[in-house]
Amino acid sequence: MGRPAKASIDLNALRNNYRLAQQVAPQSKNLAVVKANAYGHGAVACARALESLTPAFAVACIEEALKLRASGIRKPILLLEGIFTADEVAIAAQADFWLMVENNQHLEQIEASNPDHPVRVWIKLDTGMHRLGMEPAVFPAAYARLKAMPQVDDEIVIVTHFSSADNLADPSTPRQIEKFHAACKGIEAPKSLANSAAIMAWPKARAEWNRPGFMLYGASPFEQPQAVADKLLPVMTLTSAVIGLRHIEAGEAVGYARSWVANRPSVIATLAIGYGDGYPRHAPSGTPVLVNGRRAPLVGRVSMDMITVDVTDLPPVSLNDRVVLWGEELPVNEVASHAGTIGYELLTRMTGRVPLSYRGGDN
Ligand SMILES: *Cc1c(COP(=O)(O)O)cnc(C)c1O
Repeated sequence: MGRPAKASIDLNALRNNYRLAQQVAPQSKNLAVVKANAYGHGAVACARALESLTPAFAVACIEEALKLRASGIRKPILLLEGIFTADEVAIAAQADFWLMVENNQHLEQIEASNPDHPVRVWIKLDTGMHRLGMEPAVFPAAYARLKAMPQVDDEIVIVTHFSSADNLADPSTPRQIEKFHAACKGIEAPKSLANSAAIMAWPKARAEWNRPGFMLYGASPFEQPQAVADKLLPVMTLTSAVIGLRHIEAGEAVGYARSWVANRPSVIATLAIGYGDGYPRHAPSGTPVLVNGRRAPLVGRVSMDMITVDVTDLPPVSLNDRVVLWGEELPVNEVASHAGTIGYELLTRMTGRVPLSYRGGDN
């Protein structure tokens, strides 16, 4: 029954990708990042699938963490943006959420709190991203202040985040690593630097804790081929079906604003997927779609509920034939690059209209 647009989530692929991160960085503990509904894949199902493998999870905020707890996830959960209001400290201590300390306000809020047992904290050092975290100059004092707080567990992880780890030619990653070690000189503490790109390609960034996100979902943070990326398995496959077929004459246009005009007699297939599902409205004519496993170009504007593709050069296509928008055989990054964005965004901004179905859930 129902509209054929579906996202199939392969939990075996998810676990495979987690294990790959572990193999690449065997000395590290890899905390699985499941923020933003596990990058659109469903945080609860993904966390359940990873819970026996990962020592901890990370999300952006306490709302995301509470949702995991309410669904029975028991491993510690790091809040990557820390707290937003002071009352979150006590809740975090109670629920085994770990707090990222990003600024002085966080220090003050924790100092003023009265949790029933010490809260675990990670402290962020700004080594060049310039978004969140403590400046190197004030870092040692901030760290010492945290260390002295009875509200804070003794094991404090020191963290930084890279701006450009997905670009192997960019010198800012080694510079950030250097700045990081200079700023924590003399402090004995576990460290955490690496996101997916750094785990995959910057060995010096691997430390006691890594923070893989995107790679777990089977897509590469790199534009260029990369040795580890080749072993990732896509977790989400977004599929739908042909719901309309017509022959049009040369000179006829397709879709809103008549933006694409056939230059030959053409066969146009209409597919049940659109920007109301999360397919990018900015995908231009020429963006690849798989129809019965073969590539066909999108033509004309993306509508809310539909797209149109030129299947003139394909073997005969029928109503209800299966199409793949991204996933197996068609990397999400490729579609993203046509649409002027990144795979991260396409996966994360899937709308609630597309049902997620899971396979490989039982271990
Ligand atoms: C989202 C996030 C990550 C994961 O990044 P990926 O590129 O998806 O691996 C790691 N660390 C922090 C601080 C983040 O916000």
